[in-house]
Amino acid sequence: MATASPLDRVADFPAIPDGWAYLDTAATAQKPQAVIDAITRAYDTSYATVHRGVYQRSADMTVAYEKAREAAARFIGAGSANEIVFTRGATEGINLVAQCWAATQLKAGDRIMLSMLEHHSNIVPWQMVAERLGVAIDVLPLTADHRIDLDAMERMLTPAHKLVSLGHVSNVLGSVLDGRRAADLAHGVGAKILLDGCQAVPRIAVDVKALDCDFYVFSGHKLYGPTGIGVLWARPELLDAMPPYQGGGSMIDRVSFEKTTYAPPPGRFEAGTPHIVGALGLHAAIDYVSAIGLDAIHAHEAALVAQAREGLSAINSVRLLGPEDSAGIVSFAVEGVHPHDIGTILDESRVAIRAGHHCAQPLMEALGLPATARASFGVYNGPDDVAALVDGVRRVTRIFG
Ligand code: PMP
Repeated sequence: MATASPLDRVADFPAIPDGWAYLDTAATAQKPQAVIDAITRAYDTSYATVHRGVYQRSADMTVAYEKAREAAARFIGAGSANEIVFTRGATEGINLVAQCWAATQLKAGDRIMLSMLEHHSNIVPWQMVAERLGVAIDVLPLTADHRIDLDAMERMLTPAHKLVSLGHVSNVLGSVLDGRRAADLAHGVGAKILLDGCQAVPRIAVDVKALDCDFYVFSGHKLYGPTGIGVLWARPELLDAMPPYQGGGSMIDRVSFEKTTYAPPPGRFEAGTPHIVGALGLHAAIDYVSAIGLDAIHAHEAALVAQAREGLSAINSVRLLGPEDSAGIVSFAVEGVHPHDIGTILDESRVAIRAGHHCAQPLMEALGLPATARASFGVYNGPDDVAALVDGVRRVTRIFG
């Protein structure tokens, strides 16, 4: 269906049949043939374990695995591949920082700052640590146009705040955070800042040095790569000072029953046999989006967002959420219609959207909605997909009178 797109990449995606508008990329992106080929090739022709084998195949696989780490480092502007920890995804990256950094650095009376729009994976790991330590959590409100309110952040921050953790791009509203301003504010009171880049890396160019953040996480599967692989980036001095996350093989320097010593980062945080082929798939995905260019992807998605917002706002009963310049994501509500019904009716027109709370229940409460309908875009979508979405929502309003 996505034919008239300025990027027109739908042909790269074998799992998108003709006439299907896949508008759920914020949940997970479809995979380009280049990623599928990289994964298949690895299992077909070059598979072996990494970091251990004395035989050539394993040495080659180790090189490929570590090249993926270098690609991830370049992709987000990290200083070195050693600053990249492979995780299962953003969720694990945040849990790792919560357990290995926050749980060891924070004490009773300290405070953590989050925002109202966070994904549950950027709320619950902090709550688990906060409850254990007697640490309080403050929640930043949103502006009228649904961004994290950084003026409020300026007013609310105190020297008791040791960590701020914010979504770089909201998975519900698409709002893009001014990450550099947030980092400057956090550092102004001596706090560290983590940015949850899950929805940012597929949509905007990210440079952790320019952002001046302390931790950055993302998931491979939202970046057109495989599931089960993600990245935690942290400043090297923070990683150096952090204890291991899990114990096991690969993360040690020397093991004895008297005392075990640990490997330096990033190995210290990667216990067990890693998701070897996942890392190779992520590398292919990074190459794929880098070849198109994040600026081109962002411009492409901005045009689709503008088209969707214009089309949907012309329908009387539609309430649009999020700012006008949201990155690739449009959430909306239709008066008197549950989002699940919107999703089901759209599915009959072969338009796939997400309906629900999007793992952001506190945000739903703040918006006064039980759930929203969400359309999110990727490189394979085009104006025809947006037209199908708008037509489908018109049909919903006809059905519900
Ligand atoms: N943060 C945001 C903003 C997300 O959109 C998601 C996934 N929906 C996550 C974190 C968690 O990512 P994952 O489930 O891949 O670990």
